[in-house]
Amino acid sequence: MPSIDNEESFAKISNLIGGEEYQKVAKALLNTEDATDEEIAGATGMRINVIRKVLYDMFGKALITGIRVKDEKKGWFVYRWRAKSDQIDNFIDNQKKKILDRLQKRLEYEESSEFYHCGNNECQRIKFDIAIESFFKCPTCNQNLAMVDNNYTKEALRYKIDQILSEISPGK
Ligand SMILES: [Zn+2]
Repeated sequence: MPSIDNEESFAKISNLIGGEEYQKVAKALLNTEDATDEEIAGATGMRINVIRKVLYDMFGKALITGIRVKDEKKGWFVYRWRAKSDQIDNFIDNQKKKILDRLQKRLEYEESSEFYHCGNNECQRIKFDIAIESFFKCPTCNQNLAMVDNNYTKEALRYKIDQILSEISPGK
């Protein structure tokens, strides 16, 4: 049996992924295990094509499983869907790992050079080697370049990275 915590996380994560429609489908699946598209439509009042779109997306993200079964009354095959709320910790960890990876790459970039900027909002920051090549004039607007202090950015990135590292379940 999935725990209440997992079920709450499952509904919450569904909402984060796709908003209210996802949360409604998630709750319907938690209330009725192995529900069909039509049963979910009955429980939520949502349109069947919207429900299918949500289900396929959740299936693709490994948040639900689907089993193809024969509907004896109608004589054709239908899918029965089940929430994988016991997988929610893995899902959250995987999301965190993706974020962690992005933050680490960003930090590497920030640490890779000194940066220069002209002070003009429309212009980009420039790495040290390019600033030298352009004689410390902005290649876009030709204003003088000044060194940008990115220590605060680096500190903020390191802080966030440490925080996520401490949140990811050990051994995963
Ligand atoms: Zn500029």
